[in-house]
Amino acid sequence: MATRRRTLLKVIVLGDSGVGKTSLMNQYVHKKFSLQYKATIGADFVTKELQIGDKLVTLQIWDTAGQERFQSLGAAFYRGADCCALVYDVNVLKSFDSLENWHEEFLKQASPSDPKTFPFIVLGNKVDIDGGSSRAVSEKKAADWCASNGNIPYFETSAKEDYNVDDAFFTIAKTALANE
Ligand code: GDP
Ligand code: MG
Repeated sequence: MATRRRTLLKVIVLGDSGVGKTSLMNQYVHKKFSLQYKATIGADFVTKELQIGDKLVTLQIWDTAGQERFQSLGAAFYRGADCCALVYDVNVLKSFDSLENWHEEFLKQASPSDPKTFPFIVLGNKVDIDGGSSRAVSEKKAADWCASNGNIPYFETSAKEDYNVDDAFFTIAKTALANE
């Protein structure tokens, strides 16, 4: 009988309020999207099982409940993270500028054993809006930032149209697993 290994990976999702963190998770885990804004309530995390090679992986994805507005997420949120997804809204420059802070904040709070190789991923969300004509951040600008911060993988996503959401989370799972 083949041995099955189940691995639990903790992923935390950071970024300014309103960029679509909760929506991306809902789209990925529940295949649902709502335009109605509601501050996140309820569970601290959602889980999703997936197969990567011969491994059965449980992704435990942690969401914030609006505290990101005050950048005070508490130690439990960061503890034991295997990957950190940084999300911004391609239509809002400030949310892109905040990536720097979230990146630093993560490294400070989670203090991973090797900050240089810890897996991050950046998601530029809401690319569906106005067919891209209201973009404030070009794909190149974002990719350059990712390249100069340790070659962080970059995905452009739409939680609304379910664009690149599966691919992004699959990459999150793979990089987290590789770092395990
Ligand atoms: P969070 O504060 O980062 O968790 O952001 P939310 O997931 O609550 O999303 C904030 C608002 O943006 C909500 O009204 C969502 O419906 C909307 N939203 C999220 N993702 C997208 C997207 O990809 N496209 C569009 N058009 N709207 C989105
Ligand atoms: Mg939220």
